Amino acid sequence: MPSWRRRVRTLVVAAGRDVAGLVVPVACAGCGRVDEPWCAPCAAALAGPVVRRDHGAGRLDLLDGRTLLPVLGPGTYAGPLRHGVAAWKDGGRTDLDRPFAAAAHRTGRALAPGTGHVAGRAGPVLVVAVPSTAQARRRRGRDPVDVLAAAVAEGLCSGGVPAVRARPLGRSGGPDLAGLGARARGDALRGRVRVRAAARLRGRVVVLVDDVLTTGATLAACHGALVAAGARVPAAGVLAATPPAGAAGVADVAPSVRGVSRRDAAEG
Ligand SMILES: [Zn+2]
Repeated sequence: MPSWRRRVRTLVVAAGRDVAGLVVPVACAGCGRVDEPWCAPCAAALAGPVVRRDHGAGRLDLLDGRTLLPVLGPGTYAGPLRHGVAAWKDGGRTDLDRPFAAAAHRTGRALAPGTGHVAGRAGPVLVVAVPSTAQARRRRGRDPVDVLAAAVAEGLCSGGVPAVRARPLGRSGGPDLAGLGARARGDALRGRVRVRAAARLRGRVVVLVDDVLTTGATLAACHGALVAAGARVPAAGVLAATPPAGAAGVADVAPSVRGVSRRDAAEG
């Protein structure tokens, strides 16, 4: 499709969202509560301490008690937060940029001590969002994880670690990863994440950012590509991670208001 047609389509989609906002009453993207975009009980899902979330991710497990890299985040990907992330990514709920960016900022702040220690005099830390496919970007009209990466960079800076956003990674298309198990995801991703030709990564320190940690296959693929290009990747930040197997579940009640996406966030 020529680029002007793509641009027109993006504008039409955006206008449709604005009109929908006038017609459909605002509802909490997490629980459906009317007249609040992201209510206090749902916001509490991201208000806890930023802690390591990588121990439940099979593809990050090095099988000797260690993981490929620590992944920090404030949330458990279940219940209202799961619905909120899906609505934010695929339901046009860009009004959640603000609370999600605030959580990512706290994550950046929590990443600062460990990252600063590694960075030393290697120059500003590069904060890199896990890339989505061009297809997913077109569908969404943007790359939501970029919002988180910007906030993580600011959080690192506020924690005393100079950091800038960078986009050295690209990702080619392939099957949608939602619903695939750890091994299938790894297979689907192999060779699809690549470092752009112009990227200069040797000796640089990179912090990866994604919205949700599930199996860790995506982070592992990005980590591999960055390390192969000479970067060091001491840690990653996410909004939330799926609860470890056997953990007490959070009530998974779907929002009851029309216009709120009930689809799980499709990775990509
Ligand atoms: Zn709510």
